[in-house]
Amino acid sequence: MKIVMLGAPGAGKGTQAKMIAARYEIPHISTGDIFRANIKEGTELGKKAKAFMDQGLLVPDELTLELIMDRFAKDDCANGYVLDGFPRTIAQAEALTASLRKNGDALDYAIDVDVPDEDIVKRMGGRRACLACGGTFHILFNPPKKEGVCDLCGGELSIRKDDEPETVQKRLNVYHAQTQPLIDYYTEEGILKSVDGTQEVGKVFEDIVEILNG
Ligand code: ADP
Ligand code: AMP
Repeated sequence: MKIVMLGAPGAGKGTQAKMIAARYEIPHISTGDIFRANIKEGTELGKKAKAFMDQGLLVPDELTLELIMDRFAKDDCANGYVLDGFPRTIAQAEALTASLRKNGDALDYAIDVDVPDEDIVKRMGGRRACLACGGTFHILFNPPKKEGVCDLCGGELSIRKDDEPETVQKRLNVYHAQTQPLIDYYTEEGILKSVDGTQEVGKVFEDIVEILNG
């Protein structure tokens, strides 16, 4: 099963993608997590990506596509994947469609996790992320068992640099200008499904499972 998660930054794509990956035994691929891992390791890619990420801008398509195509080549992608944060531009979506089509393949679902901007701003202030494993929590809505510690790997939780209020607003503007058009793109492809992302985490997941098992 090949799934793309769509939605504004902070809509809950990562939270749901991890649950989907566990339930359907497919890898969760987050371009944001891969960029952050590269920044942590101090790689050339990480240095290039950081300049854009810290400003709330998208990393250029060329860099992002190189990274994701390498990731698709790994063996664990044979049975599909759930993509979180990719594609984020029409050019990325077209490149993905073309690369799948070359092998007579296609995506199965594009799931839009729909959350209004006002809720996003509230959520981002409370997000806490684990840089070690990509785990994501919220101080009120999805708290870790022990404050500041990742439930999944025991790593330290921190506030993402791009979750500061001014950067969140900028990322929302970038989302509306560059990523939201993907909703029309995948509607035309006939694979768009929408879920109400303002519901609690478990209910959003139930709605997604209903679509995937549909
Ligand atoms: P994205 O991957 O779309 O940027 P995340 O999955 O990281 O979003 O979620 C953003 C923040 O909102 C996190 O702190 C997460 O714990 C919290 N969150 C995710 N889903 C929900 C939900 N349904 N209700 C409330 N908070 C949520
Ligand atoms: P995320 O973890 O998905 O919120 O992504 C964090 C940041 O990484 C984004 O604001 C972008 O700067 C960058 N990024 C992640 N995925 C992509 C992508 N597909 N295209 C361009 N930039 C991306």
